[in-house]
Amino acid sequence: MNVILKPGREKSLLRRHPWIFSGAIQQADANIASGATVDLLSSDKQFLARASYSPHSQIRARVWTFEEEVVDGEFFRKRIQATLKTRRRLNVERQSNAYRLIYAESDYIPGLIVDRYGDILVLQALTAGSEYWKETFADLLLEETGLSTLYERSDADVRELEGLQPKVGILHGAIPDPQVTIHEHNLKFSVNLQSGHKTGSYLDQRANRLRVRELAKDKDVLDCFCYTGGFTVNAMAGGAKSVLAVDSSGEALELCKQNVALNDLPVTHHSSLEGDVFQVLRKFRDENRSFDMIILDPPKFAPTAAHADKATRAYKDINLLAFKLLRANGILVTFSCSGGVDSALFQKIVAGAALDAGVEAQIAEHLSQGPDHPVSLHFPEGAYLKGLICYKP
Ligand code: SAH
Repeated sequence: MNVILKPGREKSLLRRHPWIFSGAIQQADANIASGATVDLLSSDKQFLARASYSPHSQIRARVWTFEEEVVDGEFFRKRIQATLKTRRRLNVERQSNAYRLIYAESDYIPGLIVDRYGDILVLQALTAGSEYWKETFADLLLEETGLSTLYERSDADVRELEGLQPKVGILHGAIPDPQVTIHEHNLKFSVNLQSGHKTGSYLDQRANRLRVRELAKDKDVLDCFCYTGGFTVNAMAGGAKSVLAVDSSGEALELCKQNVALNDLPVTHHSSLEGDVFQVLRKFRDENRSFDMIILDPPKFAPTAAHADKATRAYKDINLLAFKLLRANGILVTFSCSGGVDSALFQKIVAGAALDAGVEAQIAEHLSQGPDHPVSLHFPEGAYLKGLICYKP
């Protein structure tokens, strides 16, 4: 099956970017099945790449290879072996038994996410192409890791754009209890593989949580958007004087509390508040409350650049309020996981927030996702998590 591009639209492929948008296509063979492999040809019929076809998505094709090679089980075996080798080299196991094994486009397997939680593998197929090869991926993953339990969490919203239904359940083996305990930098976390966010947890924040632990000693900490307590537990383990954890989900706050208890941390130093962070911060400002350290780890406000304006206002709002609530010598740890907001824009937003709050803050550190979420140089979209540690004088 062939897909011919419009003149000049081969440029991104020549730079090794793996996506072809529907608008770049001049002509496609009729009846290409969802997820089937196609050859991408230039307008003068030169071979450019071999890709998976997504008939329902704006991202119409995602490249498997830029070579004229067969795309089959053995092809994917080599790709999977390469990602496993990278993870071994990174030695992530030293930090945690829960980490990302395969990070989709960034690991040259578009649409496929595989995370490891102890001896359980969790797979997420996000695209027509990764759905098409799912059974093959499942067999290869079990063979190459030697593990026997594989769970599917293909329930991310983006599947809708590919014309795919959500799917959750066992692909191989058995999980007696979806609530599992993982360890991360010598702390324990209870994770629900069935209902937890993403594949169960936010594995991308591992290093940043540790950094918070290192900075939290004797501080009054406000953890906004705390979810199940990744930052709260670390702040407490780092000797925080108090940690107030805020989230709009009562269920998340309950799990956060359990994770504090799981690590034998002084529960009396921990309190939680169910509410909307935007309102809570305003209320605290009106009450003249203050903190030594504030963490802002909100959900994705801008999935794509089209949402950037609205997201900019939201980030500015919470960062401005946080700067106001910070005591002298306070620390703001602020994140964005929005694909539509790049690190330069995020820094500009935080700078604007400091300015409007009347605070002369410094950036002490730039933070990003962990090494098990590598970024292909040809696919900058893979670098979605950006964070700043700002010091207030
Ligand atoms: N910091 C967490 C991950 C945060 S995920 C960790 O390291 O694991 C984002 C969280 O924000 C979710 O728990 C969600 O319930 C919460 N949330 C989303 N919108 C919110 C709002 N407006 N106010 C408070 N919490 C919100």
